[in-house]
Amino acid sequence: MRQLSEVGRLGDEGAHSFVLCGGRVFDGDRVLESASVLVSGGRIHDIGPEVQVPIGTRVIDATGKTLLPGLIDSHAHSKPGALAQALMFGVTTEMDMGSSPEWMVEQRELAATSAAVADVRSSSFGATVPGGHPSRLIGTFFPTGFPTVTDPASAKAFVRDRVGEGADYIKIIIEDGTALNREKTPFMDPETARAIVDTARSYGKQSYAHITSIEGAHRALDAGVDGLVHLFMDQPPNPSIVERIVESGVFVVPTLCTLGALSGDHSARWVADDPRTQGLIPSDWQHTLCCCWPKNPHARLANAKQAALELHRAGTRVLAGTDAASVNALGTAHGVSLHDEFALLVSAGFTPLEVLRAATSLPADTYGLTDRGRIAPGLLADLVLIDGDPTHDISHSLSIDSVWRHGHQLFRAGSPS
Ligand SMILES: [Zn+2]
Repeated sequence: MRQLSEVGRLGDEGAHSFVLCGGRVFDGDRVLESASVLVSGGRIHDIGPEVQVPIGTRVIDATGKTLLPGLIDSHAHSKPGALAQALMFGVTTEMDMGSSPEWMVEQRELAATSAAVADVRSSSFGATVPGGHPSRLIGTFFPTGFPTVTDPASAKAFVRDRVGEGADYIKIIIEDGTALNREKTPFMDPETARAIVDTARSYGKQSYAHITSIEGAHRALDAGVDGLVHLFMDQPPNPSIVERIVESGVFVVPTLCTLGALSGDHSARWVADDPRTQGLIPSDWQHTLCCCWPKNPHARLANAKQAALELHRAGTRVLAGTDAASVNALGTAHGVSLHDEFALLVSAGFTPLEVLRAATSLPADTYGLTDRGRIAPGLLADLVLIDGDPTHDISHSLSIDSVWRHGHQLFRAGSPS
């Protein structure tokens, strides 16, 4: 494993001005076949066929390459170490969907000061019932336990505590075990789930639900959540659940790479074996990528793929996310798994451009991240330069030439700096 070099402390962006010339640019919405992008002060200064470049500005030839906005992983669990791994593969923002207040504060502080890691938004702890998912991860993912909810009163207190800690949104776990654990698991009653959503809304926060079954999706929609951060895999989509999700206006993060590992239908061995990832993934994480759980008789990846495509075609906002967590969570690793998710979404029927929007402009709009997700004047210079054209062939997305966060270029093996 090569070590990341500390490319800079955030705050000295004035020293990092450059112009990328001659390449293709995907600006988050559409493709500009040949455009220049001028970066100064950590932000995009200008973009177009011809831009005014101050004398002495460093020029980077992007001929044959494609510039993308920094990628956003809409479902991760940002433990210590996650954000450096994520940035290595072009993920400049992780949406942490469940960690702890200690990790949230520590990772946020790191992201605010170091250009060598991705940025992060966080829910802190997720809300679950005693014995509910993810209680079986205590001792592996969670070193100790976490607070739980039992009724609407404790739900209100839970949300108040998360908001007090500084959570950006609230995560609710609605999991009866049908598809996930292959056995019944205690799960949240509808009144308690509703109390979480209503209390979060009273604080101006959105609520995002873990579900893996159609029944769970109905329960989450009954509670009034704003997003589903997995998709169901217990059954193929039926017209009533598709119509209900579309009409509710919630967004969906399928996390196909994790559902594939949980159902035993997919492993990310190809990612670990790919020459473009060699030397960039620690060996324990490579091992995690190569593994999946045994075949699950109650879950199929094909169900979630079909649901993702039908929802997308019916107008639901479908975002790219991985559920990368720890080495105990088989089948995923931070950053690199987003490229596995891209491949899975394309195999489900999405076009490469739709997939790239699902990891850039769409999540930025969904989460109100108005300073990123596109390449446009005034936005943060969170950028990924790809050798090739992922707007036509999504497998090129792993051919990463360079990554910048706030205009700071990350040192990667083979990169020029
Ligand atoms: Zn998760």
